Amino acid sequence: ATERSALFIFFGGTGDLAYRKLYPSMFNLYRKGTLQEKFAVIGTARDKLTDEKFREKVRKSIGSDSKEAEKFISHFYYEAHDVTDQAHYSVLKARAEELDKKYKLSGNQIFYLSMAPNFFGTVAGYLRTEGIVNDNGFSRLVIEKPFGRDFESAKELNESLAKSFKEEEIFRIDHYLGKEMIQNIEALRFGNTIIESLWNNRYIDNIQVTLSESLGVEERASYYDKSGALRDMVQNHIMQIVSLLAMEQPVAFTDSDIRAEKVKALRSLRVYNVAEAATNFVRGQYGAGNKVKPYREEDNVPADSTTETFVAGKLMFDNYRWSGTPFYIRTGKVLADKFTRVDVVFKKPLVDIFAFPGSTNTAPLDTNILTLYIEPKAGFALKINAKNNEQGFQTEPVTMKYLVDPEDSKKTPEPYERLIHDALKGDGTNFSSWQEVSYAWKFVDQIRHVWDLQAPNFPNYTPGSMGPAAADELIERDHRSWVYKL
Ligand code: NAD
Repeated sequence: ATERSALFIFFGGTGDLAYRKLYPSMFNLYRKGTLQEKFAVIGTARDKLTDEKFREKVRKSIGSDSKEAEKFISHFYYEAHDVTDQAHYSVLKARAEELDKKYKLSGNQIFYLSMAPNFFGTVAGYLRTEGIVNDNGFSRLVIEKPFGRDFESAKELNESLAKSFKEEEIFRIDHYLGKEMIQNIEALRFGNTIIESLWNNRYIDNIQVTLSESLGVEERASYYDKSGALRDMVQNHIMQIVSLLAMEQPVAFTDSDIRAEKVKALRSLRVYNVAEAATNFVRGQYGAGNKVKPYREEDNVPADSTTETFVAGKLMFDNYRWSGTPFYIRTGKVLADKFTRVDVVFKKPLVDIFAFPGSTNTAPLDTNILTLYIEPKAGFALKINAKNNEQGFQTEPVTMKYLVDPEDSKKTPEPYERLIHDALKGDGTNFSSWQEVSYAWKFVDQIRHVWDLQAPNFPNYTPGSMGPAAADELIERDHRSWVYKL
């Protein structure tokens, strides 16, 4: 791999995300040669740690004390720092300059904010005013979700960041965009005439996106209860997946061209009025079930919480390609299984010539379905009609399937490894742009608004199911059904 040079400053560098995902991903980049000699890491957080203690924790987080690991860890430094304390930034600046010289980093800097978003504006501001951001090399700001809790707060946050960083310097993480099969949507669509030529309302009846989780809220309850599934999953991950599925062909496979098309798609997404939002979206919260506590009995969840742990909805694009072809989405906690998939349901042939009067072919033609398996298994399947191999003439659906070999998938980079690598290259393809974020909020805000008008009747689904009955009714009303069902 091409060696990239940069100083990384991780704010919230002792947090769960940093130890669990970020440092192991950095180590993978080191083993593959993207990071070699010319990189350094400053971890910073409120905890008081020496460089030695910090390195010990990093060693544990990457799960190795090999010679290679030790060399990698020797690039790690620590500064205790309260991000709201202006004076500390001069200490950080001195350390940054010293490491820049020592490791020949050419002024390249990546500031990774892995902490509560209410600090983002403060940190970004001080990085600029205290002169840590400099004009040698690049300065990039990587931030974690949530990016606001509605359009207004997201806009405010964005304006505070925009005072210090240009849009192309801001990398908003949506870790779903780092997943192999999400990136494969573009390859499948724009690399194959047989797929892209059918990718429209003439041939596609509907598209279904399911992000199903089997676990509950775990330790995230206090955060989750203020967010809910709509903000936590739909506004970001689902809207990103939907825009990749719905967009027109980009001029070239570059970040600015792809973003332009995603934004265009989101702009033609119908923003619902009150009545439409009420009919086209369903919310749920899980109650009692097998070995699972009801949501309202989780620690840090109020006993009368109206937070939704499930969302299903129908999205309509008002454009030439998709008019009349709905996108159904759903996501939720403690559902039947943990997986993410996209089902593309094609229209049936207009005429079933095998069903003539007196025909012995008793099976009606099935719909063609292209399924994209995003996780945990990765690959795709295409269900098509064929003749079975028996006497007489009988059609039956067969499935052509490609699944990434589990051995191979071990080689697949983790989302965070990919995304850090992209940030090092300055490639924004797999990050959310402000425009995408803002259109997604405008859509989601309408749903939230309608939900806030009326208290829900919770709990309304059983752990281990695929959500409330209303989620089935939502699609059955349109004479369709979920492809994945129990
Ligand atoms: P965490 O609570 O484990 O870590 C927070 C870090 O911020 C700690 O290092 C803490 O010391 C530091 N911190 C808090 N206040 C500070 C202050 N005033 N000054 C300096 N440092 C301070 O959080 P986390 O789970 O690592 O999450 C970090 C970010 O990533 C959040 O925005 C979260 O929403 C997002 N995120 C986390 C995960 C995950 O799996 N943990 C997944 C997706 C997104």
